[in-house]
Amino acid sequence: MTKMPVGILGGTFDPVHHGHLRLALETLELAGLDHVRMVPLHTPPHRGQPVAAPEQRREMLRLALEGIDSLILEDCELRREGVSYTIDTLQEIKACMPDRHLCLIMGMDALQSLNTWHRWRAIPKSAHIIVVERPNETMRETEPGVAALLGSAATTDSAVLQEKESGAILRIRIPALDISSTRLREMFASGQDPRFLLPSQVLEFIYHENLYVSEQT
Ligand code: ATP
Ligand code: MG
Repeated sequence: MTKMPVGILGGTFDPVHHGHLRLALETLELAGLDHVRMVPLHTPPHRGQPVAAPEQRREMLRLALEGIDSLILEDCELRREGVSYTIDTLQEIKACMPDRHLCLIMGMDALQSLNTWHRWRAIPKSAHIIVVERPNETMRETEPGVAALLGSAATTDSAVLQEKESGAILRIRIPALDISSTRLREMFASGQDPRFLLPSQVLEFIYHENLYVSEQT
């Protein structure tokens, strides 16, 4: 029997919150994944610098994932440093686990701008994509190249992830948790109480490090 596929969930995780963790867990269960590797990026190609340092974002994820066997901290982008490109990450992970099918997990918003990603056409050659519809998402128009990919590769049958090596796009919906790191950073800056939106051990770390105290979001 072929081994179960592996999920890859990239993000800034600035900070990690329960929206990320539920996303990983629900996707794991719906798509029948072996585990999900959570990949904090080092330097984003498309947005401003994260507020917390790479080491702090790694530590927050480590604390959040402690004791959860099916969610694994993958720090290859932090170790590579510089601008983080998903295609490099997929190839690096694939080299470590050549007999696994990789499934890149992303929101519909991210999929719609896939054409702006570095070497984007190589991505569905290296992995499957699991597209998750995120709460309160406003749909933009999909770029024709991405729309064509979606049209030819979209499926709702998770068995494909195991049958094929790469190239499928599995669409799933998960219950909405309207939490974002942006809102959390705003809450910290304005002194609101962010309890129950993120793991308590992450919250303690943020207070201990005096993170997110300024208005910078
Ligand atoms: P920011 O507000 O700084 O953009 P974020 O909360 O969107 O942070 P990211 O690190 O950018 O977090 O997200 C990583 C991944 O998790 C992305 O694919 C994003 O779509 C997804 N994600 C984040 N929050 C949620 C949520 N509440 N529900 C479902 N998916 C989420
Ligand atoms: Mg985001």
